[in-house]
Amino acid sequence: MAKGFDKHQERLNIVSGFGKNLARRSKSKCELCEATGVKLSVFEVPPSKDEPDYDRCMFLCENCIELLKNIKKSKENDFRFLSGAMWSETPIVKVTAIYILNSIKEKYSWAEELLENAYLDEEENALLETINF
Ligand SMILES: [Zn+2]
Repeated sequence: MAKGFDKHQERLNIVSGFGKNLARRSKSKCELCEATGVKLSVFEVPPSKDEPDYDRCMFLCENCIELLKNIKKSKENDFRFLSGAMWSETPIVKVTAIYILNSIKEKYSWAEELLENAYLDEEENALLETINF
């Protein structure tokens, strides 16, 4: 059990070590909703791998992290900011935005409309396949 705990702790240390680079990449804005001047935390896009992967991490505000806990229960306008994130130059941000839109498109027609303009290249499509909230 102690071993499992150490591993978990080690993982957390690695992930929080990404924070500095993520702060630079995000320009200290939430990478999904672009909120500024708020607390940002490292969020690993699930499922997390054995080895923490920088390219599967996003720097997000608390509001977004809360929303991601239960995407399907989101209210109609909770994820409107994805209209910006779906064009992010950071692959994991862009692909996660598309993933979320796909998850809510049956409920909200605006999400389906956004998806009509979405474009993912082959690599991004492969990344999308690996995401599972
Ligand atoms: Zn946010």
